[in-house]
Amino acid sequence: MSDCCSAPGLMPFHDALKQLLENVPTATKTQVIAIEDCLDRVLAADVVSPVNVPPHNNSAMDGYAFHSSALVGDSDSLLMVGRSFAGEPYSGKTEQGQCIRIMTGAKLPECCDTVVMQENTAINENIMSLTKAPKAKANVRYCGEDIAKGELVFSKGHKFSAIDLGLLASLGIAEVEAFAPVTVAVLSTGDELKSPGETLNEGDIFESNRFALLGLLARLNVNILDLGIIPDDKQAIRDAFIKADLEADVVISSGGVSVGEADYTKEILDELGTINFWKIAMKPGKPFAFGKLPNSIFFGLPGNPVSALVTFYQLSVPGIEKMQGQPYKAKTQFSAVSTTTLRKSAGRMDFQRALLSYNDEGLPEVTSTGSQGSGVLSSIGRANCFIVLSSDQGSVAAGERVIVEPFTSVFQ
Ligand code: AMP
Ligand code: MG
Repeated sequence: MSDCCSAPGLMPFHDALKQLLENVPTATKTQVIAIEDCLDRVLAADVVSPVNVPPHNNSAMDGYAFHSSALVGDSDSLLMVGRSFAGEPYSGKTEQGQCIRIMTGAKLPECCDTVVMQENTAINENIMSLTKAPKAKANVRYCGEDIAKGELVFSKGHKFSAIDLGLLASLGIAEVEAFAPVTVAVLSTGDELKSPGETLNEGDIFESNRFALLGLLARLNVNILDLGIIPDDKQAIRDAFIKADLEADVVISSGGVSVGEADYTKEILDELGTINFWKIAMKPGKPFAFGKLPNSIFFGLPGNPVSALVTFYQLSVPGIEKMQGQPYKAKTQFSAVSTTTLRKSAGRMDFQRALLSYNDEGLPEVTSTGSQGSGVLSSIGRANCFIVLSSDQGSVAAGERVIVEPFTSVFQ
């Protein structure tokens, strides 16, 4: 998506993302873990199959197995000389004119290459007559036809799904080498912030950013260090950043990154480390500090809840994923008709919160979740996607097509 016309002094969103990804370190620490612990973990070394799947030729049907050279016509009769059941293979041979009883998944002896399903047979004592002859080599699943021994199954950087755990087990693999999770410290800054359960004094608010961030970080499978609420006090912020930097690979703060009198985040970050950029042409979320402390990467999110969560999702998440060994993957986007008017001024890329649905013809349409103010947290809560409007784009009329980006599992 074009992002060519950002307001002067603001860094285009895609430049910020590119610079961020270039500046976060790649994952190096690895650990060997049992496959039971692999869900959502990132693979640190290619996995090739140590076995063939299936491990032997086997029957796709309950029926009778024989060699296709025995087939003459539809009404052939074969003498049943044995049986092969799953886990109980037939160890003998079949001669011309003979067959064995076989069950689905059971090993096909080497002397057989064809299976007839039992519905196409008639049995009289141990004589099996074909009522409909199968094609030669029918109903056989071949050794290695799913996965061959030595085949690449998962590449380094792959994130394991639940299905993948089953696949690893089917290969007989009990443990894999995964990248170690990074440790992320989270803190909120603001004299006005109180935790839920505390009493609000005049001018106070309940803080929400840290709770949402802790949930989002849990989805990323990182180790979490919760440093709580830090007052707008230079020394307190300095102390918190030093502690976080000593104990974590990533430090995330929210609040205090704009240009207000009590906004010390940028100043302390400048003092202790380096800032790469901090004004991005995106809405919500213009003030966003990305930098480095002596030992860690720093993301300074804006205080406004929607801005904090959208910048975290769009910028910090790809950075953390890279640090945990995952290659960058662009998010899925497609076009849909907007059912509502969307207000937008040119100069920043908008990530408007919206609900994607399908109309009676099955075509995608998207409806804004209402007020797009950067403090309106419910605008994300009710949404399942972003409408992504490029910097140069203006307002959108109802009925126009827009770019939609469904939320990933991190945000659902
Ligand atoms: P700041 O960036 O610190 O100026 O904060 C911008 C706005 O976000 C202010 O209205 C703050 O009260 C609010 N805010 C800052 N931090 C939080 C937080 N952790 N939870 C909820 N609101 C916050
Ligand atoms: Mg503040």
